[in-house]
Amino acid sequence: MKTRMPLIAGLSLLVGAVAACSNPTETSETDSAEAAPSVLTIYSSRHYDSDKALYAQFEEATGAKVDVREAGASQLLETMKAESDQSPADIIIAADAGSLWRFKDAGLTQALDSDTLRNKVPANYRAADGHWYGFARRMRGIAFDPSRWSAEDLQTWDTLAAEDKAGEICVRSSSNIYNLSLMGELIHRLGTEGAQTWATAIVGNMARNPQGGDTDQIRAIAAGECSIAIVNHYYWIRLGASEKEADQEVAAQTSFVFPEFSEGSGSHVNITGAAISATADDLELAESFLNFLLTENGQTYLTTETKELPLLPDGPLPEGVDRLPVFVASDTPMDVYGENQAEAQRLFDLAGWN
Ligand code: FE
Repeated sequence: MKTRMPLIAGLSLLVGAVAACSNPTETSETDSAEAAPSVLTIYSSRHYDSDKALYAQFEEATGAKVDVREAGASQLLETMKAESDQSPADIIIAADAGSLWRFKDAGLTQALDSDTLRNKVPANYRAADGHWYGFARRMRGIAFDPSRWSAEDLQTWDTLAAEDKAGEICVRSSSNIYNLSLMGELIHRLGTEGAQTWATAIVGNMARNPQGGDTDQIRAIAAGECSIAIVNHYYWIRLGASEKEADQEVAAQTSFVFPEFSEGSGSHVNITGAAISATADDLELAESFLNFLLTENGQTYLTTETKELPLLPDGPLPEGVDRLPVFVASDTPMDVYGENQAEAQRLFDLAGWN
């Protein structure tokens, strides 16, 4: 990470957001006493108390009311397809660029042309056509047993394909979006053939059939089932930050590395992002919410509990992430994850990665 800034007072930024959002509709101020507040309906695949605090802050700043529906991303996708042009959704929040791509691919999002967002969100962390933007960063990397390997042994993804990793790798199923997006970048970097060779070698080196979630893979290292786990960084950080001693022990027994694709390529990054729904009625309010996510407060509430990293380079870092190694982020456009998604699943299937 290039910058590690302490949490500084976000008051000035919040005040800026209030000023920018205080008049989200064209209705005249004199009518506001009688007018019902504008409602922003958010469909979110996240389930965190800190998100509730985030929405409350936005309500306070704008006078709008936030109505949230939380469910898994695929459930929200099916719901929106069924609701069609009657969907009340204004904003879609999802973890993983590959997930946001699915909403866009189903015609459920709309482009937002915003200089503010374009200036703040690096080009590779948003859809080129403006259909979604990233607001917090999350990285898929490798947790490992430091008594078996050093970070130098695991500098690139292809080190996992080597024979000395036979029976050492734990990873979840291939249909999981995090694996599909990682594979999307591998296809982009290595080509179809290279990516398939990689996936086949990983299957050959697995300690067990894919099962469970990312945290289960890290626990499996501590339990001696494997010595390498492909997981998102925040699961490892959360174990270390847990109040349970057993979780802290698992974190203490493992290390973490952000492998590159080749030397100097940078490491795989993903995002929690948001899109404006195709059916959003108050575009100004929807846009002001996205701008709010990039204020100091927005960045803080998005990341404190999740242990993601802020998107803004000087954003406040959540407690515990200072355990992570320094990394350089890949500049691969995240549109690639969606575009390669079907191919990624096809290659995983061919490799026998369940
Ligand atoms: Fe996750």
